[in-house]
Amino acid sequence: SAFEYAPAPESRSVVDIAPSYGLFVDGEFTEAADGKVFKTISPSTEEVLSEVARAGAEDVDRAVRAARKAFGTWSALPGAERAKYLFRIARIIQERSRELAVLETLDNGKPIRETRDADLPLVAAHFFYYAGWADKLEHAGFGAHPRPLGVAGQVIPWNFPLLMLAWKIAPALATGNTVVLKPAETTPLSALFFADVCRQAGLPRGVVNILPGYGDAGAALVAHPDVNKVAFTGSTAVGKEIARTVAGTRKKLTLELGGKGANIVFDDAPIDQAVEGIVNGIFFNQGQVCCAGSRLLVQESVEEELLDALRRRLSTLRLGDPLDKNTDIGAINSEEQLTRITRLVEQGEAEGAERWSPQCEIPSAGYWFAPTLFTKVTQAHTVARDEIFGPVLSVLTFRTPDEAVAKANNTPYGLSAGVWTEKGSRILAVAGKLRAGVIWSNTFNKFDPTSPFGGYKESGFGREGGRHGLEAYLDV
Ligand code: NAD
Repeated sequence: SAFEYAPAPESRSVVDIAPSYGLFVDGEFTEAADGKVFKTISPSTEEVLSEVARAGAEDVDRAVRAARKAFGTWSALPGAERAKYLFRIARIIQERSRELAVLETLDNGKPIRETRDADLPLVAAHFFYYAGWADKLEHAGFGAHPRPLGVAGQVIPWNFPLLMLAWKIAPALATGNTVVLKPAETTPLSALFFADVCRQAGLPRGVVNILPGYGDAGAALVAHPDVNKVAFTGSTAVGKEIARTVAGTRKKLTLELGGKGANIVFDDAPIDQAVEGIVNGIFFNQGQVCCAGSRLLVQESVEEELLDALRRRLSTLRLGDPLDKNTDIGAINSEEQLTRITRLVEQGEAEGAERWSPQCEIPSAGYWFAPTLFTKVTQAHTVARDEIFGPVLSVLTFRTPDEAVAKANNTPYGLSAGVWTEKGSRILAVAGKLRAGVIWSNTFNKFDPTSPFGGYKESGFGREGGRHGLEAYLDV
């Protein structure tokens, strides 16, 4: 075959990547019905990591049938028994977290510091958390006998491949549903590794099925008549298409879509702390985060001071090899995404916003984008309106709290926001007026499995995480 496999350098030898992977259906790895495959590459080097079976409509049907068959016994298990499997999965993820962190960093391009310290601990935490609910569903406030829906069809993006899988699979299994999940085409490997974790945990066959593939497989899964619940995270455009497909069926739907989060800094905020939060808000995972703080709203009187401190801090960020523990900024996930970011940034310049980046060397291979700051931005600028999904921060100013709220809410999205001030009363007053599903104060990008997450407006509907996350998988 045309398969090329680069021998693993020392730093990545902790994980064995097979030269090829199948689909995971009914407890077995198998080829696609039509024999199609695709390559997954490392965005930091452009080398081929593996060749992966590409699911089509026939495979979707096979996987849904396997999940349906498994649903009867899985949903009939006492909650405490399902919990044991989830606890086992959580423990195995912890035990194998080094392998998984390296694998995720290779396939996605994000810094190992993030996969090691954020993604993997959160993945395990979600399985532990929902394991705890499995035998307590009758106390969840959904009535005495909440029932699972059946087969869940789940489609996830590439920015947090394993964490999005955990957000979707853990509550589905805890509530007694079975799953067919399609990972994103650029990041299939950690989901396939997870299939192996399911086998290791002895999870009954068919309870979890993993179908690597492209949008056509996602569309077939969403449209399959024997799927009872659809959960999607990704772009607003695809989310709307899915909503149209699901309309007129009895499927339950949750959508987690894009965002254009505002980070609001008042003049009494601790500036150094705010700078760290702003950097985390937009440069974590190269800004490829739906809840990124991509708009900085700074009170006019501290604009200069804050921007000076921010530029100094950006000059210290290290861009490069994501397997290096000192790296802050890794690779952009795909060439397509890099093109999208580049186009939007060029548009920002053309429309008259002022562009600035720190000096930084860009590696010759792979997909990279330097941390970028736009000042002199108005609300009419594209960089203040469109989700860029890259390491690009647009700075706007305000004078009064009301102006800050009006500007923050002036977006079709409503996923996240940040409020920086020493005044507790102001935090409460401003947060109460922001139309966003998640609001952080004096911090940013803090996640916890006990906390519901989700959007207003075009950022989607339904909540994942916390007790609310159970509701999406239950007939109440
Ligand atoms: P996308 O919505 O195209 O892809 C997300 C997932 O949906 C992938 O698994 C993809 O294969 C699948 N998919 C694509 N078309 C489908 C269809 N018609 N039916 C069912 N499934 C389908 O997102 P993308 O191309 O990866 O990124 C595009 C933009 O989306 C980004 O620039 C960003 O703005 C946004 N995005 C948001 C999130 C988020 O977490 N909210 C994540 C990734 C991307």
